[in-house]
Amino acid sequence: MAKAVLGSKRQVCGYPQRQLPKMDMGQAGGEFEITDELGEQGKPPRSGYRPLYANGRAGRTRVYMPDVAAESFADVMWAVPQEASTRMSASPAYPIVAAAGGSFLLETRTPAEIFTPEDLNEEQRQIAATVAQFARDEILPAAAAIEAKDPGVVAALMRKAAELGFTSVDIPEEYGGVGMDKTASTLITDHLSVLASFSTAFGAHIGIATLPLVWYGTAEQKQRYLPKLASCEWIGAYGLSEASSGSDAMNIRTRATLSADGAYYTLNGEKQWVSNGGIAGLYTVFAKIDGEKFSAFLVERDTPGLSVGAEEHKLGIRGSSTCPLVLQDCRIPAANLLGEAGKGHHIAFNVLNVGRFKLGVACIGGARHALEAMIRYARERQAFGKPIAEFGMIQRKISASATRLYAAESMAYRTVGMIDAGLAQAGPELAQSPRETQRRIEEYAVECSILKVYGSEMLTLVADELIATMGGYGYVEEYPAERTYRDARINRIFEGTNEINRLIITGWLMKRAMTGQLPLLPAIKKLMDEVMQPLGFDGGADADELLAREAEVLAAVRKVALFAAGVASQRFMTALQDEQEVMADLADIIAQVYALESALLRARKLAAAGRSSAEVAAALTGLLADESMGLTEQAARRVLAACGAGDELRTQLAILRRLARFTPGDAVGLSRTVARICGQMERYPL
Ligand SMILES: Cc1cc2nc3c(=O)[nH]c(=O)nc-3n(C[C@H](O)[C@H](O)[C@H](O)COP(=O)(O)OP(=O)(O)OC[C@H]3O[C@@H](n4cnc5c(N)ncnc54)[C@H](O)[C@@H]3O)c2cc1C
Repeated sequence: MAKAVLGSKRQVCGYPQRQLPKMDMGQAGGEFEITDELGEQGKPPRSGYRPLYANGRAGRTRVYMPDVAAESFADVMWAVPQEASTRMSASPAYPIVAAAGGSFLLETRTPAEIFTPEDLNEEQRQIAATVAQFARDEILPAAAAIEAKDPGVVAALMRKAAELGFTSVDIPEEYGGVGMDKTASTLITDHLSVLASFSTAFGAHIGIATLPLVWYGTAEQKQRYLPKLASCEWIGAYGLSEASSGSDAMNIRTRATLSADGAYYTLNGEKQWVSNGGIAGLYTVFAKIDGEKFSAFLVERDTPGLSVGAEEHKLGIRGSSTCPLVLQDCRIPAANLLGEAGKGHHIAFNVLNVGRFKLGVACIGGARHALEAMIRYARERQAFGKPIAEFGMIQRKISASATRLYAAESMAYRTVGMIDAGLAQAGPELAQSPRETQRRIEEYAVECSILKVYGSEMLTLVADELIATMGGYGYVEEYPAERTYRDARINRIFEGTNEINRLIITGWLMKRAMTGQLPLLPAIKKLMDEVMQPLGFDGGADADELLAREAEVLAAVRKVALFAAGVASQRFMTALQDEQEVMADLADIIAQVYALESALLRARKLAAAGRSSAEVAAALTGLLADESMGLTEQAARRVLAACGAGDELRTQLAILRRLARFTPGDAVGLSRTVARICGQMERYPL
């Protein structure tokens, strides 16, 4: 019976056995070409692509966009309903406010002050379209070869991506890059992330492997290496972790010794888990000079004394290279010290802020792709005489996935909008400076960590719901759900485990509060005074506003966050950092504030602009509000119980109940609305 509905196992709901699903395969045969402007790699331009000018400037360029009608991309473009394309101006959608990092916990913003994917200008949307087409036409068809680690496949694809400029956006023009804004860089990571093995290789190359050089390299080092990295002639890798020190990164044992004449360093030690280890030409390796000064070094692959170990056999991202490195009397020129001796921790940690942000963004791309597969499968698969998409519990899987994806996406583009707004305010000269870029990104360290944790856990949920939607077919290798599920797990481990990032979220905010950089303590005190008043507590939202219920929930979640943080800091003072469970619960509550506010402001912005997507955004925000309050209240209860007992605890729980009082939305109705719109559009609808 099942077979009759499904067809043979070789052709299930459009998924040919042992091949990628139909939806993964490119439909347009567009070939990516490059022009003379690309210098040594150049070929004459062919129809199909026309140049996209970096930063709107005419002249030298390396990013190419497809020369096809926008309609061709309608089914792959998430961001740009056709109605938008005529309305978008080519100028950035400022005034976006470059708010202080972490201030979302205390301050409310208006929709106009935050950046959303719908604010992308024409050029940015074209970048997204180009990348999406590359992902569909080049990456997905190569998925089987990538996963089988067929030699040279990943490197060749990276070079193709480089020819289109995708690897150059964060590299200044004088070193072979195109030096575009961080939104462009985010779009590339987002839309390229349809296959985790490739996006891991790509992400490691453009992020942790290239940015240390861009930010800390001398002019000579940049001249020497950046053009090679921009073109992917050499692929980059980053060796920080060791067998005995991953999270505890400062505890590395690899040693560097300067020769008596000061001409070279000798490195000895081993690095573990190096992404791109087997295919890289350049490694950024961390070692301690004389066992003490934590420093970074540039090590070329053919340096005598460097050997690359065997590939790891992993649970997921099997097509990406992960190898140990052995450094045995490995001599490198002293000029290959990156940055200052003893200051390598600045390099390691600053670059990780970007790594975390980009990892969150890659999870968004992966989840969008998985959700599309879920929606299409649910529409095609029949059970009990109808498509399973008509069942409420399947609809709930779709809407739950779309809700978290929407929240993560809203946070990601809001964050990068603040980074770019800050750089724009700094002026064109400062904006080009690596230090300024770094400073602006570091400002949002807490938002980057939130995105990393939220994004990776969101993808885990989506991958799980994809398997559930596909039933038995989700569980077997022939269909990509199984791979998506395995691949998702790593995101909670690298770029700082989610445990470490939760500690960072609460710790970073508490540190800012203690140093007075963020007026968190006065806000907590005000709230504590307020909650002691018997009556008349103000929910903080205007009942006449659009999405007033959701705004009220947000106000309540924010107050619960401050209340829980206040109780915990009063109870534990500076010893709070040792109360990891409490730190983690606070981090989760704080993340809910950022997620819900970002979602709400975006939904209001869409509604104010009269966009057709406003309906689904409002429904997603409604679902998120209920979820946020549920998670927040649960976590806050644990925090309070860890902080007090007896009458004191009972009083605090009563306050919590009052703060967390809210009217639930019609989650069933909202879920059906979201699922209906997803089904009509056959994709994530924003
Ligand atoms: C596929 C893959 C690719 C990787 N790529 C790279 C790369 O390119 N470059 C690189 O340098 N590294 C890379 N890594 C290493 C990765 O960053 C580390 O595995 C990660 O940081 C965790 O370190 P660990 O494995 O030593 O685990 P540990 O640090 O030993 O952690 C084990 C467990 O203890 C927890 N834990 C540790 N410390 C604390 C604490 N203070 N409080 C609470 N819990 C704690 C962790 O969260 C985790 O759950 C990669 C790893 C993998 C698997």
